[in-house]
Amino acid sequence: MSKKNVAVIPGDGIGPEVIKATLEVLEKVAPGQFDFTEVAMGGNAIDKYGEPLPDFSLKTCQNAEATLLGAVGGPKWDNQPPDNRPERGLLGVRSGLEVFANIRPAKIFAPLASACPLRKDIADKGIDFIIVRELTGGIYFGKHEAFKTPDGERAARDVMEYSEHEIRRIAHVAFKMAMGRRKIVTSIDKANILTVSRLWRDVVEEVAKEYPEVKLNHLYVDNASMQLIRVPSEFDVIVTENTFGDILSDEASQIVGSIGMIPSASLGDNNRGLYEPIHGSAPDIAGQDKANPIGTILAGAMMLRYSFNMNKEADAIENAVDEVLKAGLRTGDIYTEGTKLISGSQMRDEIIKRL
Ligand code: NAD
Repeated sequence: MSKKNVAVIPGDGIGPEVIKATLEVLEKVAPGQFDFTEVAMGGNAIDKYGEPLPDFSLKTCQNAEATLLGAVGGPKWDNQPPDNRPERGLLGVRSGLEVFANIRPAKIFAPLASACPLRKDIADKGIDFIIVRELTGGIYFGKHEAFKTPDGERAARDVMEYSEHEIRRIAHVAFKMAMGRRKIVTSIDKANILTVSRLWRDVVEEVAKEYPEVKLNHLYVDNASMQLIRVPSEFDVIVTENTFGDILSDEASQIVGSIGMIPSASLGDNNRGLYEPIHGSAPDIAGQDKANPIGTILAGAMMLRYSFNMNKEADAIENAVDEVLKAGLRTGDIYTEGTKLISGSQMRDEIIKRL
C-alpha cells in the first residue's frame, strides 16, 4: 500500500510544538501510513529564503494529498513590508491549493462545559455543529474601489458577486457533510435585501433536491447570529457565504471556549485539503511547552476524515481527546480550579496513551 503523502508546515512560534505532537498522534493511530514532507513557510522561510512562501514550498503542498499547518508569524517579522509578511505565505498556500470550502466545527466537550459563556441550561443541551464557509468568493474577492462622487466627496464600494457554480459546489460540501451527521442544513443569507442572497437561496434549494434525506432551513444572517446563542443545540451544518461565515465562525469559537481547542479544514476539489488550528503562533508562550496541541491534533483528525476517509482513526483521536479532558488534565489555557495542570508535551503523551 502506498503511503499517504502529506505536506507539513510547522511554521513559527508554537507552530512546530503543536505540529510535532500531531505527527506523533497520527503515527500512533496509523503507523507507517504517512509520508510527511516538511515545508518552509512563514517567518522561518523569510529568514532562510528571503520570502514567506518560496515556489518550491507551494509546489510541495500542491503535490501532496493534504497539507497540515501549525501557525505562522510573530513580532520578529512585524517590520517586513506588507507583501513579504509571514501571513502572506498563508494566503498564498490557501489560494495556491484552490481551497474553496472552510470547515469549522463548533463542539463543546462535556468536561469543558464550564468554559462556555452561555447559560448552563443552554450549554447543557449540547453544542455540536459545523460551519461550512465559502472561502474564495463574495465581497472579499469582488472589485474594491475608492472614488470621488461628482461633487467631490470621497466614496468607496466593494462588490459582492457569486456565480451559480460557486454556490453549487459549496452547497454540495454542506449536504454531503450533513449526510454523515444529523442531516440538517441551515443556509444563512440576507435574501430579504441582497440579490446575491436570492441566487444563493435558489441554488441551495436546487442542490437540496439531490439530498432528500437532509432537512434544509434558511435563516437571515442577523437572526442566525441570535439563534446561535439562543439555541445552538439546534444547528447541525451551517452553510454560508464568505463574509457571513467569517463573522459567524468567530462567534461560534467563543461559544465553545478556548482558541487552543479548535481545528479547521479548508477543502478544494478531489478531497484535497489544508488542515490547521484556528489559533496563531502565540509568541507569548512559544518555546515554554505551554501550548495546547489539541486544536492541531483535531485538525489532524479532520484530515483523516475528509482527505483520507479514515473515519475510524479520526474517531479514535477525538475519543482520546475526550478521555484526557474527562480525566481532568488541562493545559494552562483551559485550566480551571480542581483540574490538573499539565504541559503541552504531557497533553500529547496523555492523548497518545489513550489511543
Ligand atoms: P494567537 O492565536 O497566536 O494568540 C492569542 C492568545 O491565545 C495568546 O495569549 C496565546 O498565548 C493564546 N493561545 C493561542 N493558541 C494557543 C494554544 N494552542 N495553547 C495555549 N494558548 C494559546 O493570536 P495573536 O497573538 O493575535 O497572534 C500571534 C501571531 O500569530 C501574529 O503574528 C499573528 O499574525 C499570527 N497568526 C497566525 C495565524 C495562522 O498562522 N493561521 C492565525 C492568527 C494569527
